[in-house]
Amino acid sequence: MEKAIHRDFAAWLVKSKALCVRFDEPMSRHTTLGVGGPAEAFVVADTKKALAQLVQKAGKFGCPWQVLGKGSNVLVGDEGLSGLVIKLGKGFGRIRALPGNAVFAGASVRSTTLCRYAVKNNLDGFQVLAGIPGTVGGALWGNAGTSAGHMGQLVQQVLVMDSLGAEHKIESGQICWGYRSMALPQGPAQKPFIIIGAWLGFCPAKKGQSLEKEYSLILETRKKNQPAGSGLAGCFFKNPPGSLSAGALIDRAGLKGFGVGDAVVSSVHANFFVNRGNAKAADFIALMEKVAQKVRQHSGISLEPEVRVLL
Ligand SMILES: Cc1cc2nc3c(=O)[nH]c(=O)nc-3n(C[C@H](O)[C@H](O)[C@H](O)COP(=O)(O)OP(=O)(O)OC[C@H]3O[C@@H](n4cnc5c(N)ncnc54)[C@H](O)[C@@H]3O)c2cc1C
Repeated sequence: MEKAIHRDFAAWLVKSKALCVRFDEPMSRHTTLGVGGPAEAFVVADTKKALAQLVQKAGKFGCPWQVLGKGSNVLVGDEGLSGLVIKLGKGFGRIRALPGNAVFAGASVRSTTLCRYAVKNNLDGFQVLAGIPGTVGGALWGNAGTSAGHMGQLVQQVLVMDSLGAEHKIESGQICWGYRSMALPQGPAQKPFIIIGAWLGFCPAKKGQSLEKEYSLILETRKKNQPAGSGLAGCFFKNPPGSLSAGALIDRAGLKGFGVGDAVVSSVHANFFVNRGNAKAADFIALMEKVAQKVRQHSGISLEPEVRVLL
């Protein structure tokens, strides 16, 4: 991994009382797949002020950075990551109730915490996120969703910080919510950006509707149809246009149980790959390539990755 942190910047990071910094931090500890080499520096920021100072200083020293949520949709390479990996700490982990069945949710709030909050407070609409691991920030960034809908449907406004440390409030209508993607409008927000949180709008539960029951049913159904436990990320490939899902195409190509090293196609749902214990990122990358190639040979369809590969 090429070093990108200037020694004066490293000294500033060490001295900063507002940040928690670890150098050469294995990313396998911060990704649900449990693979990935070291981040040159892994930095947790707890306040907007600390975060703004961090990106401003990084800009001054020409140091690249990227943001990580719960690491449930990323595959980090074995070589690790140059520059900073920024994680938003507890200061970004609050849900604030607002009038009119709305909330402000910080980017580091867990999606499951948000769902439980909605159920408890009779807020319908949470179903789009039910059962999806990770954080609100990650769900917004990737417009996470299920057959019930997608994250963008809940959003009224998103609060982002740009690479100069400036905050921008962006209306949902200005954002392009795509299939597992969101694109901010062209404008003042300098890329890359950090999602700080979002204003989310729910509906009151209807008379006789039990959100508790709906939530349990969704979780039970997911348990039956998807693998559970550690060593997993989300679906590796996007569903291609057409009637067959990526999972069905992989299954039809006879690839359930197929593996490279300890990286294996799940026998429960073929679009999930599992770390059986000692997989390396290189095993998952090779498995992705082989699966895509075999599906292309079998059905003529090219699969696009959904999991974000960070090299
Ligand atoms: C068992 C399992 C089941 C899953 N099921 C689903 C599903 O049904 N539907 C679905 O959509 N996904 C699913 N996923 C994938 C994943 O959980 C979601 O995509 C989730 O929303 C990712 O959130 P995260 O916090 O883990 O993001 P991370 O994996 O940490 O990051 C994902 C991307 O978001 C960016 N990002 C994260 N936080 C921020 C921020 N604050 N600001 C800017 N960028 C940010 C990162 O840079 C990265 O590019 C599943 C994953 C697992 C392990």
